[in-house]
Amino acid sequence: MLEKDDMVDLIRACAAVIEAHADELTELDSAIGDGDHGYNMKRGFEALRADADVISDKPLPDALTAAGMKLVMTVGGASGPLFGTFLMSFGKELNSGMDTAGIASAFAKATDAVAARGKSHAGQKTMLDVLYPVSKALTDGISGRAIGDVAEAAAEATIPIVATRGRASFLGERSAGHMDPGSRSSALLVRSVTDWLERRA
Ligand code: ADP
Ligand code: MG
Repeated sequence: MLEKDDMVDLIRACAAVIEAHADELTELDSAIGDGDHGYNMKRGFEALRADADVISDKPLPDALTAAGMKLVMTVGGASGPLFGTFLMSFGKELNSGMDTAGIASAFAKATDAVAARGKSHAGQKTMLDVLYPVSKALTDGISGRAIGDVAEAAAEATIPIVATRGRASFLGERSAGHMDPGSRSSALLVRSVTDWLERRA
């Protein structure tokens, strides 16, 4: 179980990673979008960090739902509602069970919720191109550091894709050759969580 102090620490760890990579995310979004992704994510995770104490008073499923609502309100852009949807759905689904299978199932449903909200699917050069491979790895029983590796490889694999959803799709063929910013931030967050779990073990 995650105790309150653990949740506060995890939120801080994620916020620190987003902050450290904000310029990189902005550069990626400048290449194929409008250059606000680093700023959007930094603003959202700063708000989450400021609320970490209140959010972490709740049981994990409710804390995830509260964190998702916070991101919807503060990140903005296309990615805010999508990351928010992910966390809100993940929290709701975790109520059915928090063992390994329950976590994998909740992650899969949360990923589907992002796809429904974004009217998007895998292969379009969006965050789903990281979320789906991570979901599959969890369902296959992979855990720990290897999950972070799957996420990073999946983000790299968005480089050659021609975007057909999101702002990058406006560029057509010219969107190829750049990593999707939302995939990079998703991979950074997955890595933050797996690193944190490893430190805690
Ligand atoms: P905006 O595109 O509004 O400027 P951000 O720059 O914060 O918002 O986020 C862009 C990221 O959001 C993209 O890199 C992509 O991963 C993700 N994204 C955008 N639209 C969608 C969508 N319809 N479905 C899934 N992910 C999306
Ligand atoms: Mg943008």
